[in-house]
Amino acid sequence: MSDCLFCKIIDGEIPSNKIYEDDKVLCFHDVNPQAPVHCLLIPKKHIASIDDVKEEDGELLSYIMLKIKEIAGKLGLDNGYRVVINCKEDGFQTVPHLHLHILGKRKMAWPPG
Ligand code: 5GP
Ligand code: ZN
Repeated sequence: MSDCLFCKIIDGEIPSNKIYEDDKVLCFHDVNPQAPVHCLLIPKKHIASIDDVKEEDGELLSYIMLKIKEIAGKLGLDNGYRVVINCKEDGFQTVPHLHLHILGKRKMAWPPG
């Protein structure tokens, strides 16, 4: 999607600090980290939010779920981590491209408010 920030990051139009990439997903460091480790795992397919997931996305979602532990291992989050998905306005979603926040290395109260 041409006016989507995360699609632009996928296309390389906007730079990101990449952690993992394959043909289906991209994981990169959050520009405004809320924990010592804070990255975003996104599908390369533009899905606006978890509310917009369709039956046909099932395989992609399970792929993403399985990638989490691989990325957490790569980041050394052996003691655990949080995975957060914000959904639309009341869920504090600010970028309308489905993303999973992976947060680690600190006990925290997040999101704020
Ligand atoms: P949301 O509030 O939508 O769940 O989270 C969006 C996240 O994207 C925020 O944590 C924000 O810091 C991050 N973010 C926004 N713009 C950029 C950007 O241009 N680059 C990166 N790496 N992260 C971004
Ligand atoms: Zn997008």
